[in-house]
Amino acid sequence: MKVFRARYLLPIDAPLVDDGALLVAGGRILAAGSHHDLAAAHPGVAVVDFGDAVILPPMVNAHTHLELTNFPQWAQMAGEALVPDDFVDWILQLVRVRRTVGSEAVRASLFEGLWDSLAAGTGAVGDILTTLAATSVYAQSPMQGRIFCEVLGVEASSVEARLAEVARCLAHSPAPGLSWGLSPHAPYTLNRETLGQARAFAGEHCLALAMHWAETAEEVEFLATASGPLERLYAAAGWKLPANPPTSPPASGDCGGLLIHAAHLKEAEIDDIARAGLGVVLCPRSNSRFGEARAPLKALRRAGVPLALGTDSRASSPSLSIWAELAFARAWFAGDLDPVSWLAIATTGGAAALGLSGRMGRLASGLEASFQVIGVPDGATPATLVEALCAEGHRAPPQALFLNGECACRGPACCL
Ligand SMILES: [Zn+2]
Repeated sequence: MKVFRARYLLPIDAPLVDDGALLVAGGRILAAGSHHDLAAAHPGVAVVDFGDAVILPPMVNAHTHLELTNFPQWAQMAGEALVPDDFVDWILQLVRVRRTVGSEAVRASLFEGLWDSLAAGTGAVGDILTTLAATSVYAQSPMQGRIFCEVLGVEASSVEARLAEVARCLAHSPAPGLSWGLSPHAPYTLNRETLGQARAFAGEHCLALAMHWAETAEEVEFLATASGPLERLYAAAGWKLPANPPTSPPASGDCGGLLIHAAHLKEAEIDDIARAGLGVVLCPRSNSRFGEARAPLKALRRAGVPLALGTDSRASSPSLSIWAELAFARAWFAGDLDPVSWLAIATTGGAAALGLSGRMGRLASGLEASFQVIGVPDGATPATLVEALCAEGHRAPPQALFLNGECACRGPACCL
């Protein structure tokens, strides 16, 4: 048994506790509350005192592509240091650069992504995996969450072959604390038939879905007309333009479903999304690269659509830090949402999006002892603490991250 103590405990779904503490045993939280009360009830238990810091749940990056973590270096080596602002140019560059990289480099990149994320206080990810051969890398870190195997294509036979490869992966658990999901890539890289194949496969194996949806104006145009700038992608891939692009996202069924981005979602579609049981992962920094469209945040909240935050990949985003994403989101959406709600989206909301609500995302008795420790921002008071944590500029890395009661960092002296 051990007590973890700090100046503040921020459980997210309960009020801030001054001089707070967690009582932990066997990787689980036995109690969360004031240090005074816990020490009185459990005298003699060893105390780890983090001092002038806040204990709060880990960040959750509900949408990323960790295998692309080293993309900026790959692009530079390929002579493509400039990232295009045009979405279709960007995808074409991504495909070109990715073809210059072998599977060992992808494995190293995924490894870096996992540990960069942990160092930024992220304890769980919703990671899109394209290179199925890199699966064993996940077990080299304590990261929690869900791996969504990516599938795309407009030919039924190639999608069937890909799903057979995915089925072979599903035979093994990827790593402790990680589960499988399926990511039909986007409505412009599958047609109704191939998306139907992916949905049927997900239903058969009860896999949660994650699909890029309503990301750009180009996508909206393509789904409406089967033409526009995305035709260039079809020409480059040698694909036949679809007569019938998908026009509505797959319902989640009982196994969970996420729409990624939803930046161009029309208000009229939002009730359908809520009824379909889908959550939305906002990726504001990535969206800001390709125009100024912001997801209809207020309407999504009004409709009760569960929200989470994601960084997307290092191919379109400057870092894998959800703290940085949160600071950007807070500023980009201006006063649309208060900081307490933003922090809940980045922690509790992310955990729910990945099916982890019973394990992490809050600090309460019975949950896994998964938490981060972050220094109290200069001058912050109990009344201003959450605002200060969310504010632009507060991006100091966490002092510590614990998952299941164990320190989750690379260096021998960290978490002390
Ligand atoms: Zn993405």
